[in-house]
Amino acid sequence: MMKKVLFATSEAYPLIKTGGLADVSGSLPAALHALGQDVRILMPGYASAIAAGQFKPVKVLQEDRGIAILEGPLPGSTVPVWLLTHNDYFDRPGNPYLGPDGQPWPDNPERFSLLSHVAVEIAMDRLGLGWKPDLVHCNDWQTGLAPALLADEPNRPATVFTIHNLAYQGVFPYERFLKLHLPSRFWSSEALEFYGQFSFIKGGLVFSDRINTVSPTYAKEIQSPEFGYGLEGLLKHRRARLSGILNGIDANAWNPATDPLIPVNYDVQSIASRRYNKLALQKSFRLNQDETIFVLAWVGRLVQQKGIDLIIDLLPQLMRMPLQMIVLGSGEARYEQTLRQWARLYPDRIAIKLGYDEASAHLVEAGTDLFLMPSRFEPCGLNQMYSQRYGAVPLVRRVGGLADTVADANPIHLGAGTATGIVFDEATADALYQAIGRGFALYQNPMVWRKIQQAGMSKDFSWEFSAQHYLTLYDLALNDRAKAESLLRRAAVS
Ligand code: ADP
Repeated sequence: MMKKVLFATSEAYPLIKTGGLADVSGSLPAALHALGQDVRILMPGYASAIAAGQFKPVKVLQEDRGIAILEGPLPGSTVPVWLLTHNDYFDRPGNPYLGPDGQPWPDNPERFSLLSHVAVEIAMDRLGLGWKPDLVHCNDWQTGLAPALLADEPNRPATVFTIHNLAYQGVFPYERFLKLHLPSRFWSSEALEFYGQFSFIKGGLVFSDRINTVSPTYAKEIQSPEFGYGLEGLLKHRRARLSGILNGIDANAWNPATDPLIPVNYDVQSIASRRYNKLALQKSFRLNQDETIFVLAWVGRLVQQKGIDLIIDLLPQLMRMPLQMIVLGSGEARYEQTLRQWARLYPDRIAIKLGYDEASAHLVEAGTDLFLMPSRFEPCGLNQMYSQRYGAVPLVRRVGGLADTVADANPIHLGAGTATGIVFDEATADALYQAIGRGFALYQNPMVWRKIQQAGMSKDFSWEFSAQHYLTLYDLALNDRAKAESLLRRAAVS
C-alpha cells in the first residue's frame, strides 16, 4: 500500500551536507520513491540549499520575516522538497549548525524549534498544502520536538524517529525551554527535561511511535552506559520500540566497474586489474611504486571517535614491517601535526593528505590492500562498505555498524567463504597491532586474500535493501498508532 511520508531533516545531499545524515536524507526518500511511496522532504531553506536547486514559493507564512515554504525536486530525483525559509534563522552562509567561530549558532534552539513546529503544521495539513502524511519520519535532535508536539494532536500521523549519532542531542539550559513557550507539561523527566536541562532529542525518544538507529548493533549499544550518554535508561525502557536498520550506500557513485574517479575500472571477475590502481595510488601519494608491498590506508575524520590515535601509537612498530601507510583526512590539529612529522620521517613509507578530497577517497578504495577503521563507536559507517565493494579488505573494530557489515576472517567464515574482513575487539593499540598482523599473514596467501575480496565485492549494500526495512518499520509504527487510537476511542465510549 502506498504511504504518504513527511521526511523531516536538517540536511540532505546534494542540497547541503555536513555528515552521514545528509547522505541518508538524500538517498532513502529516493529509494522509497522507487518503491512506490509518496515521500516528501522538509528541511531548512539555508541560502546555499536554495541556490543548489530549483525552488519556487508555494506558501508565505509571515511576509515581514521571510517565513515561507519553497517547493522543488531534490536534484537528481523527483522527490519533492519543501524548504522552510526565514530571513534571520536560515538565510546565512556557512555551516548549518556552527558559526564562523566553530561554536554552535546561538539561536539553534529557535531555529530548529521552528523547523519542528512547521513539520507539525504540515503533518496536520494546516498550511493549506493539501497533503496530509500517514507518517512523519524525524531525524536527529533538530527535529526532535516534532514527535512531542504531535503527541497530543487528535488524528495525528504515526511518528518514527531515527538516531544517526547519539553523541549529538541538542541539550540547552532551562531558560531556552522557557523562551520557546513550549507546553509546561514538557518540563518533566518523562518528557524533555534531562538532568535539569532541556533536551531536543528526548522529544523524539520519548514520544515517537517507533525509534531506530542506523545499525542493529548500535541499537543495542546505546542501551548501555558506554554508548548511551545518560539516555541508556530511557532507550532500554523503550527497547520494544527500538530497532536498527543499516544505511545503504550510493551504489552508482561507489561502483568500481564504472567509477570515473579511478584509473582502471574492474569488477569481481577482474580483481587482478586492481593492481594498476594500487600503483596509481602509490604514485599519487608519492610512495615507492611496488605492487607486492602491503598497503594500509585510512580515510576519515581525524578525531578520537575514529581511533586515529591508536594508529599513531602503532607507527613505530608498523615501520618495522614491510608495509606502506596512507592517511587521507582532516580533523584535530594534534593528530594532523603528528602525522605530518611521521610522513617527513618516512617519506617513502608513510603518506598523508590533509583535507577533504573525494577523488582521492575513491582511489584509496580502489588501490589499498587493507582499509583501517578502528573506531571507538560507529553508528553505521560507510567506508567499510565502500571498501568491500572495491575489494579493499576492511579491518574494523567490533562496534556498531562495523560489527554488522564485516565478517571476520576466522576459520569458520574462511571455510564457508563468507569472510570479508578483519574484526578485532579491544580499543587498544595492542589489539589493533594483532589484527594488522593477522591481515599481513592473510595477505601472504594470495588465494585466501582473493577469496576475501570476492566475498566482499559480492555483497549487496544498496539502499533498496534498507528502504524495504524502513517500509516494514513504517508499518509497525502505523500499527502502534492505530492500536493506541482505538484504545483511546474505547476509553471515550465507556
Ligand atoms: P562519519 O559520517 O562519522 O564521518 P562515515 O564512514 O559514515 O563516517 O562517512 C564518512 C564519509 O566521508 C565517507 O564517505 C568518507 O569517504 C568521507 N570522507 C571523510 N573524510 C574524507 C576526506 N578527508 N576526503 C574524502 N572523503 C572523506
